[in-house]
Amino acid sequence: MRARTITILGSTGSIGCSTLDVIGQLDGEEKIEVAALTGNGNIALLAEQARVSGARLVVTADDNRYQDLKNAVSGTGIAVAAGRAGLIEAAEMPSDCVMAAIVGTAGLAPTLAAARRGADIALANKECLVSAGDLFVQAVKAGGGRLIPVDSEHSAIFQSLDEKQRHAVERIILTASGGPFRTWQRSEMAGVTADLARAHPNWSMGLKISIGSATMFNKALEMIEAKHLFDVRPDQIEVIVHPQSIIHSMVGYTDGSIIAQLGAPDMRTAIGYALTYPSRTRLNVERLDFAKLARLDFEAPDEARFPALRLARTALERGGLQGGIMNAAEETAFQAFVDGRIGFLSMADIAEQVMEDMVGFGMASSMDSVFEADAEARHRAADIIDRNAAAA
Ligand code: NAD
Ligand code: MG
Repeated sequence: MRARTITILGSTGSIGCSTLDVIGQLDGEEKIEVAALTGNGNIALLAEQARVSGARLVVTADDNRYQDLKNAVSGTGIAVAAGRAGLIEAAEMPSDCVMAAIVGTAGLAPTLAAARRGADIALANKECLVSAGDLFVQAVKAGGGRLIPVDSEHSAIFQSLDEKQRHAVERIILTASGGPFRTWQRSEMAGVTADLARAHPNWSMGLKISIGSATMFNKALEMIEAKHLFDVRPDQIEVIVHPQSIIHSMVGYTDGSIIAQLGAPDMRTAIGYALTYPSRTRLNVERLDFAKLARLDFEAPDEARFPALRLARTALERGGLQGGIMNAAEETAFQAFVDGRIGFLSMADIAEQVMEDMVGFGMASSMDSVFEADAEARHRAADIIDRNAAAA
């Protein structure tokens, strides 16, 4: 039997590195070979990953780094490409499965290309669903591959949701750690820096999602992600703050039963599940010790202190392009925050303002409309940031 093959979009990131770790733990019939890897600026790591994994193609998203990457893998026979076209080439290269682990909307076009050719999509890049929603789900269906969530909450729901009992699903309960500022007042949050905001209490992750955890924007994106993955109404999606991140999410059924998935906060479990579904593999990850844990805590989320949750509700109710607009504005504001140009609380303010300004933008009728709304939202967010800087 031939080994299954995988392409990892975003192999040098937090999810990408964990994916290679998991692949290294798979053996025998479960063995997966690497077809292509993509990264961005970290050429040394990308080249090293390509050599160690035996990838056939390696791609940097940065056109200017093509020659550096070429030099770094010279003599290995590994093909090299760069830029947007290179990312699409990697996505379109034959492989059974694609791990979509690029951060942000930059991941949308290549993941869509992989979906269209019928690869199974292990989806870490939640922005695909937030921006393109049903269009993305339809592309996967039309291509004929499977869509398997990697986000820990959605993997938990996927594992807790019995397809035969879909009619009896009452609610989806997303757990949220609450991030590093869970107990802080807004006045205290006003002055926090990116360094402070990136220190997540439970999970070790990329910069964008760590900051998104502090603002709870990550949970906002996950609410929209859940709607598209599990085809539920907005009012069926609940968020509960659970600081220990042991229950990764739950499904509530009409008979009052709740099915949950639990585990140590380690993305390799969700990644391994996505790669070996519908089976399960053996992974070298921490085992839960309930006696040591002693307790699990829960709190209602506070939308006044974390307005991102309220914005997600608005985006869900309005539907159409509003999720993508929220995400694009927030990605722009996130970069400005990291660059020290705006304060922590301004990120949600800017996203809200752009959402209001673009409320007339209508439905996501085509991928073109999705990309146009994304570009327009970024433009408007950048404008607000520039105007605020000029006024200060
Ligand atoms: P990361 O920042 O650690 O890695 C991002 C990857 O994308 C890197 O390989 C980087 O080279 C690549 N990249 C960055 N900019 C790019 C661009 N413009 N074009 C092409 N490639 C680019 O991010 P991460 O934490 O691994 O997250 C990846 C995705 O997975 C995100 O969508 C995130 O929301 C999601 N996710 C992450 C975690 C986690 O634990 N890290 C958990 C759940 C979901
Ligand atoms: Mg998550």
